[in-house]
Amino acid sequence: MKTPAPLTAALYLRRSREDPERDGEHDTLSRHREILLDLADKTRVVITDIFEEVVSGESLYRRPEMLRLLEAVEQGKYDAVLCMAIDRLGRGNMREQGIILEAFKASGTKIITPEKTYDLDLDIDEVLTEFQAFMSRQEYKLISKRLRRGLDQTIAGGGYIANAPYGYRKTTIDKKPSLEIVESEARFVRMIFDLYCDGAGAELIARQLNALGSVPRRSERWNRNSVRHILKNPTFRGQIIWYKKRHIRPGAESPKHKTKYLPESEWRVYDGLHEAIIPPEQFERAQELRRGRYIPPSNNGTVKSPLAGLVKCSVCGQNMQRMGAHKSEPYLLCNTTGCSAGAKMEYVETALLAQIRDRLTELTVELETQDAGAELTRAEETLALIRRSAAQTAAQKEKIYSLLEQGVYDVAEYRERMDAVTTKLAELERQEATAAAELARHSTEEKAALRDKIQNALAIYHTADAAGRNALLKTILEKVEYTKHKKTKPHDFSLTLTFRAQNPQR
Ligand SMILES: [Zn+2]
Repeated sequence: MKTPAPLTAALYLRRSREDPERDGEHDTLSRHREILLDLADKTRVVITDIFEEVVSGESLYRRPEMLRLLEAVEQGKYDAVLCMAIDRLGRGNMREQGIILEAFKASGTKIITPEKTYDLDLDIDEVLTEFQAFMSRQEYKLISKRLRRGLDQTIAGGGYIANAPYGYRKTTIDKKPSLEIVESEARFVRMIFDLYCDGAGAELIARQLNALGSVPRRSERWNRNSVRHILKNPTFRGQIIWYKKRHIRPGAESPKHKTKYLPESEWRVYDGLHEAIIPPEQFERAQELRRGRYIPPSNNGTVKSPLAGLVKCSVCGQNMQRMGAHKSEPYLLCNTTGCSAGAKMEYVETALLAQIRDRLTELTVELETQDAGAELTRAEETLALIRRSAAQTAAQKEKIYSLLEQGVYDVAEYRERMDAVTTKLAELERQEATAAAELARHSTEEKAALRDKIQNALAIYHTADAAGRNALLKTILEKVEYTKHKKTKPHDFSLTLTFRAQNPQR
């Protein structure tokens, strides 16, 4: 959980030649400074920088402090900027204002004045109308250009200047603004993608998140839209997107300031410095799903069986099929003639859930007692054995080569032996990968991740429809092998569960 840190802010003070100077008393600048420092106290912000300047002309070069401030805002250095009034920040035509305000908005920097606190994410229209004269148009153009160039460079370099999305918090990497993962939220982001890629809809996902007590950033509960918002945000796969929207100044099109969202094809994409929460392949799969171009193998039309694509016949290896006319109770049957006997769907589902619950209990006990178990030892031994064998085979390869050099082998013999050794090495590599995965399955993190997933799935299983149940089961199960001999009692079947590798990332 995040502990709320005090907000950090900058003060911006300026006095123009036209401001009255008071002899003997405080001048305008120090009077404003006192007011703003007092305001900082009241609003509990910590002032880390003060920008002060006396403005005497329209030239940009007379306002170096404003430039420095805008650059720092662009870098996301402050939570807020305190100033006497919004008109102290600048003016220009509406488009130029849009760009400067965008720097505040994009970096999530609030503007605090004695009158009001502006959160540009919420109040941008209001700010625009209140935004008033102070700098010349030309000056604005220069600042805007420089600012935009700075933003572009930051983003092209992988920096992240917008508000941190759910799952991340702001940080600095290589002196650039960036993001770091908030694990307590990131696990829900992973869950969203996992469930979605398994065929669950945004609505069901939202329900599951709410059931688990997860809370999104900007509302009290997850809904379809907030889930979809997560699903299409490339930040999660480690990218930075820029120019998603454009501000349109009031004019012919509309009398009000408007934000136009540009089509995805016009977005500019960069590799971010931040760590991805979702692997690129999975993110892309979710996009395909979103665009309706990809239909998951388990979800051809409507999923009527919670066990679809999960339960395989242990004899022939085929998927067990749901059968049953509308009036009769559905059965799970093997399509291969004369193969395993079928069973009532309901029985299989109940037995499967019972076995999942058993696994949950086991995992909980193992995690509490920190008992890695015999399986871990066995997996370690297997892996060591394979690696030893691979090392021997690699040595053999060297030897064959030197025998060729020594003239013991001719080229034909050499090739033949080399082929054999190469094939063996490839096989060993495959075995090594399997063994390493097996070993990972017994690691503590893996177990904890699986335990969480099972708890999550079971928590809302009964509220989901067939498709939802299917998606939930697939978050925890790789496959289920079903065995039932002919002429046995209805409940006499056995299920062998293979749990899905969770590959916890941290
Ligand atoms: Zn079969």
